[in-house]
Amino acid sequence: MKIKEILAKTILTKTAISSFDYCINPYVGCGHGCRYCYASFMKRFTGHLEPWGEFIDIKVNAPYLLRKQLKRAKPGTIALSTVTDPYQPVEKKYQLTRKCLEVLLEAQFSINLLTRSALCLRDIDLFKRFKKIEIGLSITTHDEEIKKIFEPYSPSIRTRINTLRALHQEKIPTYVFIGPMLPLDPKPMATMLDGLVDEVLIDRMNYPNKVASVYHKAKLDEYLEENYFHLAGMELKERFEEKGVSVSMVF
Ligand code: SF4
Repeated sequence: MKIKEILAKTILTKTAISSFDYCINPYVGCGHGCRYCYASFMKRFTGHLEPWGEFIDIKVNAPYLLRKQLKRAKPGTIALSTVTDPYQPVEKKYQLTRKCLEVLLEAQFSINLLTRSALCLRDIDLFKRFKKIEIGLSITTHDEEIKKIFEPYSPSIRTRINTLRALHQEKIPTYVFIGPMLPLDPKPMATMLDGLVDEVLIDRMNYPNKVASVYHKAKLDEYLEENYFHLAGMELKERFEEKGVSVSMVF
């Protein structure tokens, strides 16, 4: 892994993603290195030649920049993060996400944070002090073997479920992002999340060409077909709604 400390020019960026006003990405690159990651397009702009998942730039001045930018920013909802995981392994050492949250807490911006990591539990003390915050865990399948194929360096499904449980027990609003839907069985998927989330977001695989060879090698081609996303997506929706959990299909 090639890790480099850099000075960013900006950290609070306006976003066109619906329901968010801004995004913050404290890192360039992501150590989770998911095979399907759409954020790998970043390489075109940053000039990295290493494969996605094998480099990380650390924006060491992120908290300083954020404090400066927030002085001029209109209140709104901030997504952490859109092209990196804010709690990927390097966050343990650099604590940039934590330091940014400390700055955001002073200004009380609304936060929507999405991760695959239990490291977010370190910052529960901060989460509890925000007036408006939602913490999401991306869980893309119920099957650990499938996870290993597509997300080889990210935490296990079990760890993510336990993370959601811990957040929920602390009464922090939680959601699960089932996206992209990897090969999964809706019944065990919905059962394992029972009682742990306030909201569910479901999305299909949006960049099938990027991962078609991975599916093919694992003999999972049928899970890239339109039919799979629609049928499994609808069943998931029904199963969660039966339990009174609100569901948004984003495809
Ligand atoms: S955790 Fe998110 S940003 Fe990181 S590689 Fe996976 S999909 Fe990409």
